[in-house]
Amino acid sequence: KLFNEVQELKGNIRVYCRVRPFLPGQDGKTTTVDYIGENGEILITNPFKQGKDGCRMFKFNKVFKTHASQAEVFSDIQPLIRSVLDGFNVCIFAYGQTGSGKTYTMSGPGTSKEDWGVNYRALNDLFDISLSRRNAFSYEVEVQMVEIYNEQVRDLLSNNVAQKRLGIWSTSQPNGLVVPDASLHPVKSTSDVLDLMEIGQTNRAVGSTALNERSSRSHSILTVHVRGLDLKNGSTSRGCLHLIDLAGSERVERSEAIGDRLKEAQYINKSLSALGDVIFALAQKNAHVPYRNSKLTQVLQSSLGGQAKTLMFVQINPDTESYSETMSTLKFAERVS
Ligand code: ADP
Ligand code: MG
Repeated sequence: KLFNEVQELKGNIRVYCRVRPFLPGQDGKTTTVDYIGENGEILITNPFKQGKDGCRMFKFNKVFKTHASQAEVFSDIQPLIRSVLDGFNVCIFAYGQTGSGKTYTMSGPGTSKEDWGVNYRALNDLFDISLSRRNAFSYEVEVQMVEIYNEQVRDLLSNNVAQKRLGIWSTSQPNGLVVPDASLHPVKSTSDVLDLMEIGQTNRAVGSTALNERSSRSHSILTVHVRGLDLKNGSTSRGCLHLIDLAGSERVERSEAIGDRLKEAQYINKSLSALGDVIFALAQKNAHVPYRNSKLTQVLQSSLGGQAKTLMFVQINPDTESYSETMSTLKFAERVS
């Protein structure tokens, strides 16, 4: 069964939409999400326009209901995660405006087990499976964590974070994989990973006044490298999993954006459209894929396209004030799906 699921996902770009619930204190708000279907349909209503003209239907591989739990969401992507042990490269993105639930999906709202987002569950699952296969395979797992802010890449797990700006990417891996020139950390258990991510989160705050502010304007990439050794015939495999919490996709009001804020907004805009263009080119099976237009797509180049698998979580904030951002988020996703 697992094999079939993996086959179904093979070489594909998938788009999953997740609508977050209203938060406490937002009760009684009206929603733009009119209907969520079983087959990936989502109907959005324009709060300012009555009738048929005010409705727009989108269709993705799946749309999660607002009350979908972290465990439910993860169970849908588990086959993809497991394929990393078989040597596939996988990218999982969370895309959406600030406050739409990207970090909730990728990291979770806390560190208790039910709260765990995709990051922890993925690593936990990889360790579980490798343990269950230990008589036949031996696996080594290493992680990297980088942040891309204003087209500069920072190693979040380096001891000397403030100075550690990365620009160069080594291609030293035997399978031609481009690996950020960032520190690699061997991990043996989920608790090792939890410890590292805590360090990464702390380092992310360095040099910024408010962590939330900063984190919504940078991309964070957790990369998991898995090396497998088949104990029977000695053959080896390498797989790589990128888990990406993207910068907020919201457009900044021109009048609001001056100085640093404007620069940030331009960088985010540039890298998100570069990402969209790459995935679009891949979906269209274009001969030319424009990887070189941003740091983000350069870092991920060897894990986007080819045999690699891509999954995008499109995050939606259901309130009516978010209507125009919701529409542009869904249009972005529609283009790449
Ligand atoms: P983003 O990273 O896109 O800016 P967050 O993940 O920080 O958004 O989510 C914004 C707020 O909404 C947080 O308080 C978060 O806990 C809450 N939230 C997001 N998704 C969900 C969800 N599926 N269920 C419950 N609360 C959620
Ligand atoms: Mg966030």
